[in-house]
Amino acid sequence: MKEFDYIIIGGGCAGLSLAYELETNNKLKDKTLAIIEPREDYKRDKTWSFWKVFSHNFDDCVKKSWNNFTINIPNHTKYIDCQSTPYQTIDSGRFYEKILFKLKLNKNIQFFKSVDEVDKSGSIIFNSVPNFENKESKLWQHFSGVEIETDKDFFDDEIFNLMDFDCDQRNRVHFFYTLPFSKKNALVETTWISELNNKNLEDYEDQINNYLGNDLNIRNCKINFIEKGAIPLFRQKNENKSNEIYIGSAGGMTRLSTGYTFLNIQEQSRYIRENIENIKNVNLFKINSKYDFLDKILLKVLKKNSTEMGNIFFKVFNTKPKTAINFLSNKSNFFEDIEVILKMPKWKFLKELI
Ligand SMILES: Cc1cc2nc3c(=O)[nH]c(=O)nc-3n(C[C@H](O)[C@H](O)[C@H](O)COP(=O)(O)OP(=O)(O)OC[C@H]3O[C@@H](n4cnc5c(N)ncnc54)[C@H](O)[C@@H]3O)c2cc1C
Repeated sequence: MKEFDYIIIGGGCAGLSLAYELETNNKLKDKTLAIIEPREDYKRDKTWSFWKVFSHNFDDCVKKSWNNFTINIPNHTKYIDCQSTPYQTIDSGRFYEKILFKLKLNKNIQFFKSVDEVDKSGSIIFNSVPNFENKESKLWQHFSGVEIETDKDFFDDEIFNLMDFDCDQRNRVHFFYTLPFSKKNALVETTWISELNNKNLEDYEDQINNYLGNDLNIRNCKINFIEKGAIPLFRQKNENKSNEIYIGSAGGMTRLSTGYTFLNIQEQSRYIRENIENIKNVNLFKINSKYDFLDKILLKVLKKNSTEMGNIFFKVFNTKPKTAINFLSNKSNFFEDIEVILKMPKWKFLKELI
């Protein structure tokens, strides 16, 4: 079996982002890399969105970018300007195509379907394969979305809706998310934060049809793409091995309160590339622990006060737009943290903290 300097297990968002970062920074000229990925072919499977709080490698995969968004709770809508950190949506199909095209030009990079096909003994391994224990009873952000096309101009594509909480909550956290890519084309998603063992919440198709018909007033549309997924809002337990580093969602790159992961993956890839020659001896890249601490309290409050979550997220945006966006994108300073914390219902948070 062949040996490699580096092995990336899982050629998804994190695995491919890391491989691209290494390749485009000439770290694979004299080193070999095996990428282990079982999927047969790559096609569009996800839509990754985030506020662009720093530059990344994938501006040419952006499907649409917005400078304004709204957030709704019953009887209130907030309009927020995000011009300095536009909200971008990346088409995963374009992302896979761009990266695979580049990687296939380097003979030092090889693809395999299973880890049993390579000799792992002397390699540095970057592992992005999820390892979920007791997954049913833990909190997830689970969702389903449809990309629709209307026959007439319908959407204002200059502004997207981040969260519309003006909907059936069923004693959980529920909101709709609408990304208008053009006047006739939008992704409309129903999103829940709950344990996975509650199958009653998974009538996604009915939820979306109701929302399209009754809230958005869309009677006729064509569905071009369906997205379905679940993002773990908990940290995975990984075995500690000296030559194995966990990356991506498996490596703790998901923000627990929001599910945002894509930009954290890009930051982790950059950190690994910068330290690749000495990677076994440097600290692991982590999301700043203050966010894990605050998010875990928020999730505890959420478990007991699910129906108030809309109000709580709404209040985060009662701060300056830059403050809220920096906070949700792990880029807030001490004063911005305080500004957000002061908007939270203090007794509920203190109770969970104690
Ligand atoms: C539908 C969806 C939409 C999302 N939208 C957003 C968003 O808008 N913004 C955001 O910031 N985050 C978003 N996320 C969260 C996060 O960005 C994604 O989950 C992202 O794909 C995580 O990257 P990853 O590499 O950790 O996992 P993945 O991209 O899932 O990659 C893991 C890879 O491992 C492979 N694999 C599985 N088992 C094995 C095995 N045994 N051996 C080898 N390989 C294996 C899989 O085939 C897969 O390719 C979304 C998640 C989902 C599911």
